Amino acid sequence: MPRELGAPRPLGWSEPGRTTLEIKTGGWRTRRPMYVEATAPCRAACPAGEAVARWIELARRGELAAAWALIREANPFPAIMGRVCAHPCESACNRRQHDGGVAINALERFVGDWGLRHGARALPDLPRPGRVAVVGGGPAGLACAHALSRRGYRVRLYEAEAALGGLLRYGIPEYRLPRAVLEREIELGIGPGVEVLTGQRLGANLAWETVAGHDAVFLATGASLPLGLGVPGEQAQGIGNGLGFLRDLACGTRPTLGRRLVVVGGGSTAMDVARSARRLGVPSVSVVALEGREEMPALPEEVSQALAEGVEIRNGLGVARFVEGGGRVTGAAVVPAQLERGGDGTIRPLFRPGPSEVMAADSVLLAIGQRTDLAALPPPLRGARGLIAAGKDGATPTVPIFAGGDAASAERTVTHAVAAGMRAARRIDAVLSGGAPAAPAALPGVRALPAHVVAFAEINLDYFPRALRAGRPERPAPGRVGSFAEVVEGFSAVTAREEGARCFTCGHCVDCDNCLIYCPDMAVSRRDEGGYRLSTDHCKGCGLCAQECPRGALQMVSER
Ligand SMILES: Cc1cc2nc3c(=O)[nH]c(=O)nc-3n(C[C@H](O)[C@H](O)[C@H](O)COP(=O)(O)OP(=O)(O)OC[C@H]3O[C@@H](n4cnc5c(N)ncnc54)[C@H](O)[C@@H]3O)c2cc1C
Ligand code: SF4
Ligand code: SF4
Repeated sequence: MPRELGAPRPLGWSEPGRTTLEIKTGGWRTRRPMYVEATAPCRAACPAGEAVARWIELARRGELAAAWALIREANPFPAIMGRVCAHPCESACNRRQHDGGVAINALERFVGDWGLRHGARALPDLPRPGRVAVVGGGPAGLACAHALSRRGYRVRLYEAEAALGGLLRYGIPEYRLPRAVLEREIELGIGPGVEVLTGQRLGANLAWETVAGHDAVFLATGASLPLGLGVPGEQAQGIGNGLGFLRDLACGTRPTLGRRLVVVGGGSTAMDVARSARRLGVPSVSVVALEGREEMPALPEEVSQALAEGVEIRNGLGVARFVEGGGRVTGAAVVPAQLERGGDGTIRPLFRPGPSEVMAADSVLLAIGQRTDLAALPPPLRGARGLIAAGKDGATPTVPIFAGGDAASAERTVTHAVAAGMRAARRIDAVLSGGAPAAPAALPGVRALPAHVVAFAEINLDYFPRALRAGRPERPAPGRVGSFAEVVEGFSAVTAREEGARCFTCGHCVDCDNCLIYCPDMAVSRRDEGGYRLSTDHCKGCGLCAQECPRGALQMVSER
């Protein structure tokens, strides 16, 4: 007799005289399924190693508090990162090969913004012995201070400026990262165990001996010295550095730039300088970049937003010299050029034969990078390529001194800086507690396979109908250049849920019951604590469950 829909699942199929529970097909098996927690490609590509598949899964179930807490295990600043991260996770997303990568960055902002409204500071562990000095209150230093204070350490955070945030505050303009978001997320990230001391500059009013007197030190002073071009005429009045201009703006000063501004550089700083100048009312803003349009280090969305705001971008050009009149810049002589990378990681312009042109300018702002100030540090800490000498875990040649972020790495993004701070905190914890760095917690009944990155071929596309990726809403360009109000808007709850539903949840079981439904031998049953149990008496190793798992969270392994 056919079973009614919704009737309880029988424990075994019966045939006259016996049931499948008595027929132990497990003896036929040469391989068996195994529940695994494999690494999704988005997580593998995220510099901070966020458990993206798992937090998206929580968010789409409406468990935003849990999603927020999980992101913050790897990155204490989801609302910031959801606005400024270059999102390499999206380029790696398996869904790209289906119908467009999941909009992970916008989802992270959605969860982060929930946290700004509803989140609370995480409670620290029991106090542990050990006082740590963190020097520099940018994303690297903030992340390290956050993680150490949560572990129960007392942290002294020394910052040269009057307020915390580093380039998040004094570099990235408000139209990309509103001040209220920055303030609130710093407030949530800095626990009660952190003593913040602003206006303390190492090498000026803060002595190395004071810092080195702590049980461990994390140096996160960033890269603050602007690079110059080294071309004739560079000393003329009206030529300045872009970072100084952005810093002035952040401090409430509105610099005068005239009517024609030339910005030199092709990265985020150049875009921010140019777009800020447009907001100050400069009618003609031209960016000169060595790179071709596609190779510019600025994100494609920053480039298209700048173009929409009336910024001119001239690619494949280098500045050969500046033209001046009466000691003041009047133009930049540009020639065809390209970026040349030296074997030691340095970059320089390679001028090509071609016509020279003078771009008229009332002001020029250079945005071609910064270097680390090593002057206040003892010699063993001064590493190659002008960086503090430190390994991936932040350890310098003189442990317990650690370093990370822009000061110690050429990977200059907020996410790399946060990741460096979190990694160093784990190492500092291990050094101070005399143990090994803590391993990530495993899920019950599931084997963690961190080295296995789930491939697109492992996804069962039958379960994922095509659905277009949600776009990020933006305020219209003509109106937005009149103010520094935020340009990109957040997802609504409905869009966030729909976009979250596009995630394959690669390599992570979501209790969808497919394995339980498809197993012909009743070998799969639910566990009370979540997940599934396999009866080895009955599993004959047919592999149907693994084949029907939508997301590669089941693997067949040999019995031998
Ligand atoms: C204009 C601009 C836009 C950017 N946009 C993006 C973006 O969209 N996405 C992205 O991922 N990255 C972006 N970046 C890069 C990113 O901001 C940096 O990689 C990141 O902030 C580095 O973090 P950090 O903590 O190492 O250093 P910083 O943010 O530079 O912080 C260093 C801190 O140390 C303090 N300090 C310095 N010297 C001393 C001293 N001697 N004593 C005590 N304190 C000191 C500083 O005041 C500062 O607070 C941008 C950079 C710029 C300049
Ligand atoms: S921090 Fe950046 S790379 Fe990591 S998940 Fe968020 S958007 Fe992606
Ligand atoms: S589909 Fe989801 S889990 Fe898979 S790579 Fe993309 S965001 Fe990550």
